[in-house]
Amino acid sequence: MKKHPKKSECECHEETFEEDCDCDTENNEPNHDEGCGCGTENLETSENDDCCCGSIDFPDLSRVDNPDKPKFTANEEFIKEFEDYAHSLGISNVGYSLLTPKLLIKDKFIQYPFTIVLNIEMHKDIIDTPPGIDAKDLNDTAYVKLAIITTKLSDYLRKNGFGTEIAHPYGGLVNFSALGQEAGTGYIGESGLLISPELGPRQKISAIFTSISNLPLNEENEHAWIPEYCEICGKCVKACPEKALVEVDSCCGSEVELVKKNCIGCSLGCTYCIEACPFEEKGYEHVKNKFDKINAKLKEKQAKYFDVKLWNNWVNENTELFKDLLNDFTMAIAVAENENILLINKVDNELKVGLKPFDELEKCKADLLFVMDEKTIEELLKDFTTVKLSKLLSSKEIDVYGLNDQLELKNNGYIAFLNKLGISLGDGSCCS
Ligand code: SF4
Ligand code: SF4
Repeated sequence: MKKHPKKSECECHEETFEEDCDCDTENNEPNHDEGCGCGTENLETSENDDCCCGSIDFPDLSRVDNPDKPKFTANEEFIKEFEDYAHSLGISNVGYSLLTPKLLIKDKFIQYPFTIVLNIEMHKDIIDTPPGIDAKDLNDTAYVKLAIITTKLSDYLRKNGFGTEIAHPYGGLVNFSALGQEAGTGYIGESGLLISPELGPRQKISAIFTSISNLPLNEENEHAWIPEYCEICGKCVKACPEKALVEVDSCCGSEVELVKKNCIGCSLGCTYCIEACPFEEKGYEHVKNKFDKINAKLKEKQAKYFDVKLWNNWVNENTELFKDLLNDFTMAIAVAENENILLINKVDNELKVGLKPFDELEKCKADLLFVMDEKTIEELLKDFTTVKLSKLLSSKEIDVYGLNDQLELKNNGYIAFLNKLGISLGDGSCCS
């Protein structure tokens, strides 16, 4: 574990920054979609941020010109040969994606949307070197190395008759992590970095746009579970010494925002967010196994509370509550992240309880949806009176959503039902 340098120990000086960093994005209008090429460009960024890295115009090192009449299709054999060549040069992963406007950071015309995404390992030396000039040099060298390999691969394609254009890994032309995610080589974590099975978050990414229109594009991304794991981890946020990764409230809970002007990833080669990441420390398989175990336990726990027999008992103890509801009323109970919903309805004047998959909610035609967490459901089921339910509703520990219009709800007898619970239609307690 490397030591966080104190500010006074930092080898960097303002003047050195200006000399060393070719980036002049500070002088531009801040563009919140603009990435710095260091991988964190996927995170929301805060107002008035200046990025101290990326956007360097790297010289074109190509030795082969683009063909006058480029070819547009390549056979499987050629793709395989290309991948083998890429691996022989040190590329860990080759992925394929289509360039869409949302992946482009700079306003530049790109002739070919067909994109080859290349991932290369960042040497461990960068991780072991504290932020400073040495770490920055190592980081810059990694970018240069990938640029050279990318150019070699581009030249290889050109030699074989295909048109190419390079997205330099330090050029800030495209959102590289998002491109890697689109190509299915990994998924973006809370740190904003692409996390892949082979390299975790410790990688650099570049791309080649090519005339090959039949690239074997990625259909689905098997790493889409990673953000869910990030929600229970948050180690990169805690590890950031510069408060560049901050948790902010959003409409959907909290999310991590990158304060670009605070990030010293490129200017000083900081890698604390990478070092702290369990995918770097323990590896992808270990984290996946842990995630699967946590999920299995969670499901087991949730299944306990969605026991139809238990709810049948509860409903039968509270028949008075449901008395005014007409036949065929349906209400649903959901626990966030549970794959099932519990349904209570009345058929031939008899109350019934059943389970359905959450994604069939629309099909169930429920009038009301009650959403609660596991703790609340546990409390509710311990108490066979409606008093507890009323209390949990008034303290907003249970949210109620109207899924039917108010007239229908009135006609189905919900006014009396809700009144018994101390709430009324349209008073703000019930989101109808
Ligand atoms: S840990 Fe370092 S590289 Fe990561 S976000 Fe913070 S300052 Fe940037
Ligand atoms: S440190 Fe944790 S929260 Fe951050 S990217 Fe890695 S797994 Fe996600």
